[in-house]
Amino acid sequence: MTYIYQWGGMPREIEIACPLCQKKAVFQFARMIPIARKAHIPFFEKSPHFEYFHNKNGYSRHLVIYQPAIFAELDKNKIATLGEIAPLYQSPLIWISDSMGAYHCFSCHSKKPHHLNWQKDAFYKTDIRGHLFWAYDKEHLLAIRDFIYSKERKEKNHAYAISLYHLPTFFKQKKMREPMLKIIDKMLLM
Ligand SMILES: [Zn+2]
Repeated sequence: MTYIYQWGGMPREIEIACPLCQKKAVFQFARMIPIARKAHIPFFEKSPHFEYFHNKNGYSRHLVIYQPAIFAELDKNKIATLGEIAPLYQSPLIWISDSMGAYHCFSCHSKKPHHLNWQKDAFYKTDIRGHLFWAYDKEHLLAIRDFIYSKERKEKNHAYAISLYHLPTFFKQKKMREPMLKIIDKMLLM
């Protein structure tokens, strides 16, 4: 039996098990930018670099969906070559989707849009005595290790402090220190 919980403080980029080969893949949340003018919609409908999305839920909204995991090569200079409209959408008014995104796998080289199912998709996850333990990525796992290893156990003194505050108390028990360190060290070799 595993328990599902949220830790908060999710980064924009995390590591997931590749849906095709199960090896480590990088997932990045899609960014959405509201389209300022109706006249701009046809450009995004036709562009191979962006997705156009008409959100009909709530009040109507036209959005550009930008997938950094797929179009990582689109830096500022390249966007400038895509015509007059695209550069207008390097807006600070960007929303990060909470589940829509894309992944890039370094083993099978697939790059695809993906609807995140967290924590099921996590690459670093394991069951510890009936409690689901997971990390967003290797860096996060190292931060948890650092915290578990520390004598002072002060969340704010460690990276990913928000997630450490939410780390279930089961994993924070003194008697779990040694088993947790062993498990994390094994996971770090994945
Ligand atoms: Zn793969």
